[in-house]
Amino acid sequence: MPEQYPYRRYPVQMLSKADEIGQVAHISCGLCNLRRNYLAGDLLKLLGNVSIFDVERHMRCTQCGRKDYMTVKFDLPPPGDRVKMKFRRLVEIKMVRKFIWQDD
Ligand SMILES: [Zn+2]
Repeated sequence: MPEQYPYRRYPVQMLSKADEIGQVAHISCGLCNLRRNYLAGDLLKLLGNVSIFDVERHMRCTQCGRKDYMTVKFDLPPPGDRVKMKFRRLVEIKMVRKFIWQDD
């Protein structure tokens, strides 16, 4: 008889897998109702290969600047719907030099 575990473990899906199968992310802000669609591949370039459940905590609303109202949903839209969708695409990643000073 197989050993029984107290809970069933579900595999955590990573962004690389979401990109591989062509999933898209619907990211919205509950405060100002801003909604945007992103390609999983663009999020992968930006955040690295994190779990799709971790994407939410990395996002900040571009309108209100808040992080705590962001929700992220991944799905695989049918090709007919995908063609009609507008995506926010990653154009470039710029590294910003930030100076941190400390007095003696
Ligand atoms: Zn917002």
